[in-house]
Amino acid sequence: MSQVAGLGLCATCQHGRTVTSRKGSTFLFCRRSEQDTRYPKYPALPMVRCPGYEETRKGERPGRNPFDVTVPLL
Ligand code: SF4
Repeated sequence: MSQVAGLGLCATCQHGRTVTSRKGSTFLFCRRSEQDTRYPKYPALPMVRCPGYEETRKGERPGRNPFDVTVPLL
C-alpha cells in the first residue's frame, strides 16, 4: 500500500497537509482543525468518510504548497 493510499480521503483533500517531526515521522495535519474543533488536528487514518472533505483543484497536490512547514512534534 502506498503512503498516499494509507491516507484515504485526506490524500486528495485541500485541507490536508503533511508535517514531519524532528525524528522524521510524517503526520497528516487537518487545517480545518484550526477553525473548527470538530476536526482533529491529526485525524485517524485512513479517512474513509469526512463531512469536511473538499477535493483538491485539478493539478494540485495536497501538502505541496509554500505554506507547508516542518514542525517539531514532541
Ligand atoms: S477535512 Fe477531512 S478529509 Fe480533509 S484533511 Fe481534514 S480530516 Fe482529512
